[in-house]
Amino acid sequence: MHARCDRCATTGLPHPGRRRLLLGAAGAFAATALPNAVAQAAGPVDKTALPPAEALKLMKAGNENFRNEAPALAANGRERRLELARGQAPFCVLVGCSDSRVSPEILFGRGLGELFIVRNAGNTVDTAALGSIEYAVGVLGVPLVVVLGHQSCGAVAAAVEVVQKNATFPGVIGEMVQPIVPAVLEARSQGGDLLEASVRSNARRVAKRLTTQSLVIKEALGAGAVKVVGARYGLSDGHVEWMEDI
Ligand SMILES: [Zn+2]
Repeated sequence: MHARCDRCATTGLPHPGRRRLLLGAAGAFAATALPNAVAQAAGPVDKTALPPAEALKLMKAGNENFRNEAPALAANGRERRLELARGQAPFCVLVGCSDSRVSPEILFGRGLGELFIVRNAGNTVDTAALGSIEYAVGVLGVPLVVVLGHQSCGAVAAAVEVVQKNATFPGVIGEMVQPIVPAVLEARSQGGDLLEASVRSNARRVAKRLTTQSLVIKEALGAGAVKVVGARYGLSDGHVEWMEDI
């Protein structure tokens, strides 16, 4: 429970009230699942004990907390820093967009040492990103991978312009958005708002590709050690929509 006290000391906030009881319980679960390295002798840090489904619940609860504008429950104070200096045991890999409005720790109310984040414009996965994800899943034992697209994504909009207008962009921007083009083509065949449909299609496709093209992730999936989901964040309402059936 030291994490909660650490948080209160950091923020000066009282302990969670009634509305935050549920999230408080989730936070306590995370705190007990994470290693208390301060109290441990020197040695390797344990991987998180959170099962994939519980990790996803924490992310959902954190986003609900954010949307309700409740104070974040994450521990980021001195005690937590000391604990993390001994090693990390994050519970979620977050593949997100570089967009300044889509900061993962804020959207999900998480703190230091909880999210292993890969970000680039358009939340795609190249070799560097895939290696980072595989390291998190295969070595750190992270039980959840979330591929997060978002409303009005500029990189996806650029890919839409490539498809619709054969647009070109300076430098290597065009090359960067090329992996999003198949998502736009898929979305175009479905009708509706092309940009928003493409955002969802891109997140789902990237998540799906992780489950089919990475041997490390496939092995973890086979062992029930990881779950991979897509998601879409609404800039205006703060809501994260989950795509668990990819
Ligand atoms: Zn974006």
